[in-house]
Amino acid sequence: MAEVLIYVDHVDGAVRKPTLELLTLARRIGEPVAVALGNGAAYTADTLAEYGAVKVLTHDASEYAEYLVVPRVDALQAAHEAVSPAAVLVPSSAEGKEIAARLALRIGSGIITDAVDLEAGDEGPVATQSVFAASFTTKSRVSKGIPVITIKPNSAAVEAAPAAGVVEALSVTFSDQVTGTKITGRTPRESTGRPELTEAAIVVSGGRGVNGAENFSIIEALADQLGAAVGASRAAVDVGWYPHTNQVGQTGKSVSPQLYIANGISGAIQHRAGMQTSKTIVAVNKDAEAPIFELVDYGVVGDLFDVVPQLTEEIKARKK
Ligand SMILES: Cc1cc2nc3c(=O)[nH]c(=O)nc-3n(C[C@H](O)[C@H](O)[C@H](O)COP(=O)(O)OP(=O)(O)OC[C@H]3O[C@@H](n4cnc5c(N)ncnc54)[C@H](O)[C@@H]3O)c2cc1C
Repeated sequence: MAEVLIYVDHVDGAVRKPTLELLTLARRIGEPVAVALGNGAAYTADTLAEYGAVKVLTHDASEYAEYLVVPRVDALQAAHEAVSPAAVLVPSSAEGKEIAARLALRIGSGIITDAVDLEAGDEGPVATQSVFAASFTTKSRVSKGIPVITIKPNSAAVEAAPAAGVVEALSVTFSDQVTGTKITGRTPRESTGRPELTEAAIVVSGGRGVNGAENFSIIEALADQLGAAVGASRAAVDVGWYPHTNQVGQTGKSVSPQLYIANGISGAIQHRAGMQTSKTIVAVNKDAEAPIFELVDYGVVGDLFDVVPQLTEEIKARKK
């Protein structure tokens, strides 16, 4: 069976969920071979094996911590040369997409970014993308070289499928370009304890209807009951009620959770562009004519200051 290279996103050996989704999708088109780089790479092996990696290629060097992107492209290219895979899958983060694009250019391959599904095809893997603010679904395949495909978080339900996960050291010779961009400082982001917005299974968002930074505590309380990330519309972000890093939409982050709850958000096209592929969409809005209701699975016409706290209390009560 053809091998499929998976670029592993991990933090000091803790594998992040989007990589496990890649392993699940990769098994549809071949045997997953994972490439884990940097500090703690070897510690990823048990998890990767549990989710289907037949092989785990590891490499650590100070370059991964000192320079942006290029060392990882060099390593992925080395893995590509060692394995001759049927496809290369990379998580669709900003970094992942840059790595994938550079790799595709180097190996003369076509690239598909932000795929939301993947299936085997007669002439190679076929990727599904959601385009034009999610108003169209397209299917495409790479027509040149080894397909390099980036996959959006939450595109697949993670399934365990234990495999050998044989660990092998990857031999990497860094190119001259490695030192091009040096990391000069690092400031850890203050943790909210909530999941990362783009990876969260549930996102609870607030818009202009939340009517003030102090009222976002209502949105956060619901999010915390659900173990969700908090999102915001641009209107809420622009007036400084919530950080820009939490903006969902065309000029914010693109999310695709299992459940998206929009509170006091009208549903402008630019907001929809960032959340329309969510599996289940719920909206709370006091205007029954709000465009958000055109795309919801469940809609509540009501004042969010009544509805959201009640929902939070109900969830709390049911968890007891
Ligand atoms: C180039 C460009 C890029 C953009 N990018 C983005 C983007 O990335 N993300 C984004 O979100 N927007 C983006 N926008 C802005 C977008 O067009 C909208 O202006 C914005 O999404 C509106 O935010 P909102 O829905 O929170 O506010 P509004 O459109 O003002 O809607 C507020 C809603 O809250 C409801 N409401 C009010 N009070 C309550 C209450 N008490 N209870 C319940 N409901 C209530 C109202 O009925 C209304 O529907 C972009 C615009 C442009 C031009």
